[in-house]
Amino acid sequence: MPYKDKNWTIDCHRLMRRRWRYEALKHYSGGKEPKCACCGERRHEFLSFDHIDGGGKLHRIVIGNDGIVAFLRHNNYPPGFRVLCHNCNQAIGFYGYCPHELEREAVGETSVLEKTVTTRKMQLVELYG
Ligand SMILES: [Zn+2]
Ligand SMILES: [Zn+2]
Repeated sequence: MPYKDKNWTIDCHRLMRRRWRYEALKHYSGGKEPKCACCGERRHEFLSFDHIDGGGKLHRIVIGNDGIVAFLRHNNYPPGFRVLCHNCNQAIGFYGYCPHELEREAVGETSVLEKTVTTRKMQLVELYG
């Protein structure tokens, strides 16, 4: 039954990858239930890894989107990464900030992503003066 075997292998790989992904997400959520560092999104399907110092794009080019879990596992979960949902990740990637941040600032809550925003601002100053 070659087909059955093939499917079994694919399922097995998928489960392994999902498990590794979950473990990595959990690690970067402070060892607790995985969630977005910005908005607290808990649905793991929405979650992704973000390079805190803004090297995310570089990493994605180097190891690919799927390879990041393998990379993190292989390197014993190096520091400098955090868990963000795709919304927050995209917003920070495109605009250098997340609209959640502005909403929190508006109601006077402390910024959880201050480091990123400050780093981006500094990069912009360096680039454009
Ligand atoms: Zn989020
Ligand atoms: Zn956000």
